[in-house]
Amino acid sequence: MSTFKCKDIGMDCGFETKSKSNEDMMKQIKDHALKVHNIKDISPELMTKINGAIKPDQGFFGRLFGKK
Ligand SMILES: [Zn+2]
Repeated sequence: MSTFKCKDIGMDCGFETKSKSNEDMMKQIKDHALKVHNIKDISPELMTKINGAIKPDQGFFGRLFGKK
């Protein structure tokens, strides 16, 4: 599970999304970018920002260190 927050790419926006697959997440981000920010084409620069802003969920480490 990964999370993405729109404000992490420098937008003044409260949108955030979670997804199991990067493909699905990218679809949601593209959808959001078009509808809310009127971005029709995601430039390579923006794509780099987006990729940098996608973060793995804490769940993995929670499970890893939560075990006794
Ligand atoms: Zn946004």
